[in-house]
Amino acid sequence: MTDSKGSCLCGAVKYTVDGEFDSFYLCHCTYCQKDTGAAHAANLFSREAILTWVSGEDDITTYHLPETRHCKSFCKHCGSSLPTYEVPGVLLVPVGSLDTQITLKPTARIFMASRANARCSPWNASATAANPCSAIPALPAPMRTRRRCWR
Ligand SMILES: [Zn+2]
Ligand SMILES: [Zn+2]
Repeated sequence: MTDSKGSCLCGAVKYTVDGEFDSFYLCHCTYCQKDTGAAHAANLFSREAILTWVSGEDDITTYHLPETRHCKSFCKHCGSSLPTYEVPGVLLVPVGSLDTQITLKPTARIFMASRANARCSPWNASATAANPCSAIPALPAPMRTRRRCWR
């Protein structure tokens, strides 16, 4: 039995998840690009886990994209992504909203075809090849310092 805890950036919303996660998808679809502002979403899914809101349930807003299954729950104060049920009976937990560690590694990268769209192809295709950095890299600098990170 897993007991995971999570919260939003401003701390208004807190939740727990009891149960195991079945899958961990990195979704590259164009909807997830828009609603995360990033190359892909990173979501855990579970059919059996129980979600409990500890605080801030009234601070959550859910947006449903008309005529699609896509939806996003988020804190109305800070905009952080929060757990939701995009498909009835299947809990979706944005992995970045967790405050506890999980052992599951990403199980699939999905909607990879969307990744090649003209809007973001160049950066998206190379996102996983970027230099790992522990913090914000230095702004454009001579080649010799480019791999350094702020501490
Ligand atoms: Zn918040
Ligand atoms: Zn998606």
